[in-house]
Amino acid sequence: MDYIVFDLEWNQAADLKTKLENSLTFEIIEIGAVKLNENREQTDAFHELIKPQVFERMNQVTGELIHLSMEELENCRTFEQVAADFVKWCGKDCIFCTWGNMDLWEFQNNLDYYHMTPLSEKTIRYYDVQKLFSIAFEDKKSRRNLAYAVDFLEIPKDIAFHRAYADAYYTAEVVKRIQDSHVFDNYSFDTYHLPGNKAEEIKVCFDDYAKYISREFPDKLTAMNDKEVISTKCFLCGAKTRKKIPWFSSNGKHYYTIVTCTVHGDIKGKIRMRRSVNNKIYVVKTMKQAGADVVRDIISKKNQARENRKEKRHHRASL
Ligand SMILES: [Zn+2]
Repeated sequence: MDYIVFDLEWNQAADLKTKLENSLTFEIIEIGAVKLNENREQTDAFHELIKPQVFERMNQVTGELIHLSMEELENCRTFEQVAADFVKWCGKDCIFCTWGNMDLWEFQNNLDYYHMTPLSEKTIRYYDVQKLFSIAFEDKKSRRNLAYAVDFLEIPKDIAFHRAYADAYYTAEVVKRIQDSHVFDNYSFDTYHLPGNKAEEIKVCFDDYAKYISREFPDKLTAMNDKEVISTKCFLCGAKTRKKIPWFSSNGKHYYTIVTCTVHGDIKGKIRMRRSVNNKIYVVKTMKQAGADVVRDIISKKNQARENRKEKRHHRASL
């Protein structure tokens, strides 16, 4: 299996009117990639600029960041041509690696825009190297920029940043320097395509937390009525748990619960409501063991939510 470490540069509307006229938000104008074999040695590279077909003017911020002008792109091949070659170049047996969680989503969105064959009809498992860097070298939670990681790992800076090939190259250098193979257990999931049915839903258990990604639901209420969505079985042993604080929402987007497993103690559940490409709702749920401080934090969130509701009711009654 190969690691395809890639990076994109994209342009966006230069003004509000153009933005509103177009269904595409980010138009890809460069693809850079490095191929690593299973020993994480570089075996190949891919780089090509792309002729824009949606936005004819360069967004000022984009242009300054990546030092590209429209003139340089005029004689390039189109996205359809470059992307088709890139997908072929990637091969059948590969895992994508990107710095952060945007590139794979945007690539699929651009494929879709041009009615091209999707990379997959399913939710894609990939590596967010920004996350892997944090797990391997820092506190798991922080998210650093690529330049920070390059300095931290003392990677020689022989190419300028913020161009697709350079950023793919540096990201690949970070991938190469992760010694602990256990770090690669930490997959990410790109939700451009969501699980199509209950059987395809994603349930994974990482070192210290579990993640669940649901299929799509028409609305929040239907989602919160789904057995699997609100299930609070212990992610470590599968046992039924006792409710300490039942599911509640602080803002209508995030839901929390605290449950207790007789063997594994208090567990915090968190549900995030997300909007899918099809403008439906899907759920990302995480379960994690909770110390006393976390339980206190959830209790105060719940009290705050109750206060807010009271205030609203009071406000309405006084109108
Ligand atoms: Zn348990």
